[in-house]
Amino acid sequence: MPVDYHIHLERGPFSLDYLREFVRVATGRGLREIGFSEHPYHFRECRGIYPTENPWIDAQWARRLEEYVRLVEQAKELGFPVKLGMEWDYIPGHEEEVARILEAYPWDYAIGSVHWLRNERRWWAIDDPNEREEWDRQDPAQVYHQYFRHIEAAAASGLFDVIGHVDVVKIFGYRPSEEMTALYEEVARVLWRAGVCVEVSSAGWYKPVREVYPGPQILRILARLGVPVVPSSDAHEPDHVGRDFDRILALIREAGYTQIWTFTARSRSPLPLP
Ligand SMILES: [Zn+2]
Ligand SMILES: [Zn+2]
Repeated sequence: MPVDYHIHLERGPFSLDYLREFVRVATGRGLREIGFSEHPYHFRECRGIYPTENPWIDAQWARRLEEYVRLVEQAKELGFPVKLGMEWDYIPGHEEEVARILEAYPWDYAIGSVHWLRNERRWWAIDDPNEREEWDRQDPAQVYHQYFRHIEAAAASGLFDVIGHVDVVKIFGYRPSEEMTALYEEVARVLWRAGVCVEVSSAGWYKPVREVYPGPQILRILARLGVPVVPSSDAHEPDHVGRDFDRILALIREAGYTQIWTFTARSRSPLPLP
């Protein structure tokens, strides 16, 4: 009975009826529990974790963080097998603001993801289909190096329990022509030292790159070092909860892992793989 901790409610209302649809799919697919991990940019209370000069963030519909937290807490009280999380954007220099909000609410876990990089002109979201053309102006090797430096800093910040879609930088299929093994090995060592989990996410199969996050090479390196992993779907609708977890769990097992992890009140416990 695995868990899926990367789920977004953002396409629907913050209501128990909508939340219940996710739980129903999870139960049908044999999941033990699920966790919600909303994007902070929906909440005006989280504006401070982003750079001030970011018009895209300012254009997001401002929902109330209180409302999201209260919904998941209420679902717990009603006995739903759910956990409270957030998929934080890691942006260097904004760690204190993330720490402040992590302190202020009863989170079960925190996912740290890198979606935003600063180029010579502005901040850009590397995984946004509307930003795909920006990739044609960039040197993939340089972007990969910058991206993975941010991943290392996110892990080393100690703010997060899980690193989200660790190689999402490949999302549109832009790859460096140079050999990246040394960089990946260094990243894996930083992740291992930081003690964070890494997601093995089926979402990558549904992106232009059509490859699981992380890809086979990085997963092999993580497994060799014993970096802990958790399965994830990055569901944005109920039907995506636990998507392809048979394949995901098979990959985790084949990589040599015997357990995944569950989270409660920001502490983790091992869950043996069946
Ligand atoms: Zn993400
Ligand atoms: Zn996500």
